[in-house]
Amino acid sequence: METPNHNDHQHFLLCPFMAQGHMIPMVDMAILFAHRGVYVSFITTPLNASRVRPAIDQASRCANLPIRLVELRFPCAEAGLPEGYENIDAIPHLGSGEHFKRFFEAIDLLKEPLERFLSKDDFFPPPTCVISDKLLPFTQDIARGVGIPRLVFHGMCCYSLLVMESVRRHGLWVSADEPEEETVTIPDVPCRLEMKRGHLMKPMSLTGFADFEGRAVKAEAEADGVVVNSFDELEAQFIEAYVKMMGKKAYNVGPLSLCKGGVQAERGNKSSIDQDKCLSWLDSHEAGSVVYVSFGSIARLGLQQATEIGEALKGSGRPVVWVIKSGETESWVSRFGEGLDWLVIVGWAPQVAILSHKAVGGFVTHCGWNSTVEALCAGVAMVTWPRFAEQFMNERVVVEVLEVGVRVGIEVRTWLGEEVLVGREEIGVALERVMGGGEEGEKRRRRVRGVGEMARKAMEVRGSSFMNMTMLIEDVKGYQKEKRATNAIP
Ligand code: UDP
Repeated sequence: METPNHNDHQHFLLCPFMAQGHMIPMVDMAILFAHRGVYVSFITTPLNASRVRPAIDQASRCANLPIRLVELRFPCAEAGLPEGYENIDAIPHLGSGEHFKRFFEAIDLLKEPLERFLSKDDFFPPPTCVISDKLLPFTQDIARGVGIPRLVFHGMCCYSLLVMESVRRHGLWVSADEPEEETVTIPDVPCRLEMKRGHLMKPMSLTGFADFEGRAVKAEAEADGVVVNSFDELEAQFIEAYVKMMGKKAYNVGPLSLCKGGVQAERGNKSSIDQDKCLSWLDSHEAGSVVYVSFGSIARLGLQQATEIGEALKGSGRPVVWVIKSGETESWVSRFGEGLDWLVIVGWAPQVAILSHKAVGGFVTHCGWNSTVEALCAGVAMVTWPRFAEQFMNERVVVEVLEVGVRVGIEVRTWLGEEVLVGREEIGVALERVMGGGEEGEKRRRRVRGVGEMARKAMEVRGSSFMNMTMLIEDVKGYQKEKRATNAIP
C-alpha cells in the first residue's frame, strides 16, 4: 500500500471489545469502510490481531484496500492478569470474577498507549472518526481529545438495545434483590412486551462493575451516534423507537457478515476443520436435511445437557454438524457421533460457510446476535436456545417478531450449563417443528428465506445498509466541515 496523500481523506479508528462476537463484525465493518475508500486502522492486541490478521491482510494486500492492523500490547501484568488473557474466550473456564475485573482494568489501561500511538502516527492521514465498542469507554475521551466524532458499537440489534435502554431508564433491574422470575412490562417499545427479569441482560452494576458501567453509559450519552449490525427492513419500528429514545442516529449497516472481503474459513479464528472437507461433507447431503448445532464462542455445555441434545439429535435421524469447543464435552460428543451421519467439529468452525450451504436446514443456536443474523442471511430457520447476555431478547426477535424460529423452551440464563435444563423430548419436538413441521414449518422456512433476500438487498449498492454507510461517511465529513468553520481543527 502506498503512503497516502493526507489531504481530505477519511480515516476511521475501529476499536473492538475483545470477544469474538464483538471482534468479528467489526472486522467485516472495517473491510466495508475500506471498500468505500475510508482509511481504516483496526486497533487491537497481539493475540486478537493474530486471529484477524488473515482477513485484514487479504483485504490490504490482495484487494489493496487502505486498511491496517494496529497492535497495542495488552497490559496483563499491570492489571494483575496472567499473560495471554486478551480475549474473553482466552480466560480459562471463563475465569473468576476477579479475572473479569482485571480484564476490564487492563482495557482501561489501553488509553495511554493508544494516545501515544496516535501522537506519533504519520503513515495514515489524521483520524476523522472513532468507532468503538461501548465497553471501551476511554475511546470517547480520545475522540474528544483530537476533536473527532465517536460512534458506539454494541454488537446487538436495535430491538435488544431498545429493551435494555428502557430497562435502564425505568429502573426495572437496579438491585440484586429483585426476583429474576418476576415478569416485567417493558415501556417505550412499539409492542406490548413482557419479559421475565432474568431474561433481560443483567446490568453490569449488579455484577461488581458499577463504576465501569457508569462510565460506559456516560461515554455513550456523549457519543455522536450508534453503528448497528442490522438493517432497516428487519426491525424498522424498533430502530425508530431506539433512535427516538437515544436522541441520536443509529446507522444500520448490516448484516456485516455479507461483507464480500471476509475470509470465511478464518473468520475470527483459524478453523479447526479444513473448509473444503466440511463443504464436501455437506455436498453429499440433500438440500435442507442437515441440522447445525453451535452455541457460539463463549457458552459451554455440561455432559448431562450434551447427552440430552445428543439423544434428541440421534432420535431425529437427521444428519448433523455439531460444533463443540475443546475442554467442553468434546470426547463424549465425538464418541457418540461415531457411526452416525454426523460431522463433529471440535474447536472453531467455519460457521458462515456452513450456514450458507444449501444442505443446512436448521440451526440449534444460542441466539448470539451474530449467529442469529448469519442464519437469517442464509435463510435458515432456528431452534432457539438462548444462554446469557441479550440472547433471550434476540430469541424474541427470531420467534415473535420475525416468526422464523421455535423456542426449545429454556427459561434459565446459563453459560456453563452443567445440569439438564431441557430434556431430549422437548428438544426433539422443537427440532421436528423446524426441520419438518408440515405447513407451519414450510411457512417458517419461506419467511426466513424472504428475510435472507431482504438482507442481501440491503447490502447491495443503493440498498438501505449501503446508503446508511454512505450517510455515516457523509456525516463524519460534515462534522469536519463544521469544525473547520469554527476553526476547531486546521
Ligand atoms: N463463530 C465461528 N465459529 C465457531 C463459533 C463461532 O465462526 O466455531 C462465529 C460466529 O459465526 C459468529 C461469532 O463467532 O460470527 C459468535 O458471535 P455470536 O454473537 O453469535 O455469539 P457469542 O460467541 O458472542 O456468544
